[in-house]
Amino acid sequence: MYILNISLNIYKCKLFVKKYYKIRKKNTVFVIFCNIFKIMDIQYMQMAIDAAQLSDVDIPIGAVIVKDNRILAFAHNQKEADNDATAHAELLVIKKASHKTGNWRLEDCDLYVTLEPCPMCMWAILQSRIKNLYFGAYDTVYGAISTIPQMMTLSNSKLNFKGGIMEHECKVLLDSYFKSMRIK
Ligand SMILES: [Zn+2]
Repeated sequence: MYILNISLNIYKCKLFVKKYYKIRKKNTVFVIFCNIFKIMDIQYMQMAIDAAQLSDVDIPIGAVIVKDNRILAFAHNQKEADNDATAHAELLVIKKASHKTGNWRLEDCDLYVTLEPCPMCMWAILQSRIKNLYFGAYDTVYGAISTIPQMMTLSNSKLNFKGGIMEHECKVLLDSYFKSMRIK
């Protein structure tokens, strides 16, 4: 089962890389445009959306961590797949980035996530000292910023955040997932 899981993850990574390069190839003009005008938030949010699409049985939420214009890690929600209540995209991507850098302090790192983080993930974001948080769709029911804004003041973190990036695309992704669940 463990080996099967590893193989599945390798397969998913390969799919993502393949898809990413296909998108880059197809959208060369889009990427060049983003680079010229420094609209990096759109480019990286698109990558988070691509990661979200690998969520399979889970609610499609994807996250990417970037440092100095270099992608450190990406992840998607795996709560159902891993049978793990903590396997949210944000926590997984933070773990991966910390592992890669060999440092839990992710200072000067930017996190892109397709949905406003829940309180569990927001606390991890604050603790990891991520510099900038960019999210797509707002979550007015479970989102930490929308529901517990005072949480931001409970930490020494100087986190900057910006919501609503590619909000429509992120919402469509979630809506189509819930629609397909209702049909089932
Ligand atoms: Zn979360």
